[in-house]
Amino acid sequence: MLNREALGRWLPEHPLLRALCQAKESCALLPQVVAVAEGLRPACDDWVPMRSLQTYRSVAARLGLSVVPDVAFAGLPSSSAVGHGRLTTTRTLGRPVSEAGPDDRVHVFLARNAEALDAVRRWGWYPVEVDGVIVPAGLADAPRFGRAMGYPPCCVQSFLANNRWSEVGHLHRLGSPGSAWWGLNFLPRHLGFGLIFHIPCSWRCAPSTRLAKATMEALKAMEPAYAALAEAAARTPTLFASERVIYLLFSDEDGRLRPMFAGGDPVDEVLGERLEGASRLVLQEGWLGIDGERWVSPESMGGACTLLRFGEGES
Ligand SMILES: [Zn+2]
Repeated sequence: MLNREALGRWLPEHPLLRALCQAKESCALLPQVVAVAEGLRPACDDWVPMRSLQTYRSVAARLGLSVVPDVAFAGLPSSSAVGHGRLTTTRTLGRPVSEAGPDDRVHVFLARNAEALDAVRRWGWYPVEVDGVIVPAGLADAPRFGRAMGYPPCCVQSFLANNRWSEVGHLHRLGSPGSAWWGLNFLPRHLGFGLIFHIPCSWRCAPSTRLAKATMEALKAMEPAYAALAEAAARTPTLFASERVIYLLFSDEDGRLRPMFAGGDPVDEVLGERLEGASRLVLQEGWLGIDGERWVSPESMGGACTLLRFGEGES
């Protein structure tokens, strides 16, 4: 049975996939890179430490992919953050790649051809804060960026209408998956086990399902054990409070919880310590009880927690 330690230790056996994970020090977004390499979508993005960018580029080239660096990000003390609820970049200092230090994380785009790479680089940009003034990403550019990344138009529309990074709403709006296929569970994406990265407009979205199924077939062809692990991860009960606060819930033989943080940024790991070793979780009208104590979420976390479970009565 899948457990937290096995999932945390995992590295692909496929030599190029393994080399890619080793270069970027994570397996996050790996199925997305596979989907682009296999021509299932035009482009994707990724994060790579500056010190291994060249290695990453040469491995990607062997998968038939070109890599273009976007911006390098250096960590900032958390007290420097502004606009936390609206922005994703104020936790870090963005700077040109030519000025990056070895520990900076470089945001890169990957595509199979120059045209796709040019489109995704042109329309994809982050909101920024410059001298206290917030410059949001252009709304008109967002659908173009979604198209350049190969996200279904229905999901792009839904994202633009509903997305709030730190708040309840978008994910909760999706509701219970019921008998929907587990392959649309994007929540393990930062662990490298989400077949899709985008948030689907519904658990029954047809174009998202087509993309996820094709990506699953590509993974199976490259490494069947990887595909099996992706399924096990997607079927693991998952607790989330927002797009940033996400935990896969494993349990040990005594029934004690072993949570695994699946958000993208370690600063959002705000709940794991309380969940660790707990034996009783209660979710009621959006609040979370842990071993009889009500857990009060920090304001930045959004609030209500929801448990997502795929694979029951699947159709
Ligand atoms: Zn959709």
